[in-house]
Amino acid sequence: MEQKPYFCPNCRSNRVKFSVISSYSQRFLKDAITGSVQEVSDPEQLEESEPTIQCQVCSFTGNEMRFIKQAEREPRTATQINPNY
Ligand SMILES: [Zn+2]
Repeated sequence: MEQKPYFCPNCRSNRVKFSVISSYSQRFLKDAITGSVQEVSDPEQLEESEPTIQCQVCSFTGNEMRFIKQAEREPRTATQINPNY
């Protein structure tokens, strides 16, 4: 995951709470007649070029880049009111 701000492009209210979604591959053997599962291997995490991120506010799921791009388009502005005005 990149060390960059995220901003949910869907609800556009969340910059803080996210989940990362990973895919796992788990091999198993099935009995050809009964259909029961015989043997299950340990899960292996699949290599992904880009993590999938889910917004915890609206449950929107998308590539990390979409969240980063949205944050770049609408950066969190630390607006300070000029005390001279
Ligand atoms: Zn959202």
